[in-house]
Amino acid sequence: MNDLTSQKSKYTVPHVSQWSAFIHAKCPRCRLGSTFTGAMYGFKVQKMKEVCDVCALKFEREPGYFYVSMFVSYAMNVAEIISLGVAAYVLGLDIIYENLWYFVAIIFSGVLLFSPLNYRYSRMVLLYWLSPGLHYDPSRIKNN
Ligand SMILES: [Zn+2]
Repeated sequence: MNDLTSQKSKYTVPHVSQWSAFIHAKCPRCRLGSTFTGAMYGFKVQKMKEVCDVCALKFEREPGYFYVSMFVSYAMNVAEIISLGVAAYVLGLDIIYENLWYFVAIIFSGVLLFSPLNYRYSRMVLLYWLSPGLHYDPSRIKNN
């Protein structure tokens, strides 16, 4: 066995499922590097990294790339607004004019509460499922 193959066999790439990597906001190409710094909900504002620490993928693939995630975020917001409205109705809030401001308050506070989640996962949906040519490629993982 020559040096190159023996060195390569020292590193085993752990298999991470696509769903697990998506939930944990990992890089779509190596599924190991984090895409965001900081927690989704915390006192420090979460920021997206420029490149992956593990495979050096540039996340913003072209200038303004993440504008497209606004459309994903919009769809997520609509789904959340409808869900919150239906949930409020199912939990006993009747649809009458006097309850209008309760619905508005519930939906508005829900949208505020979900906004860090929408920010993170709209970009993850864009990277994982709406980016042509961006696939899982464990051979791009840097072994050092
Ligand atoms: Zn990566």
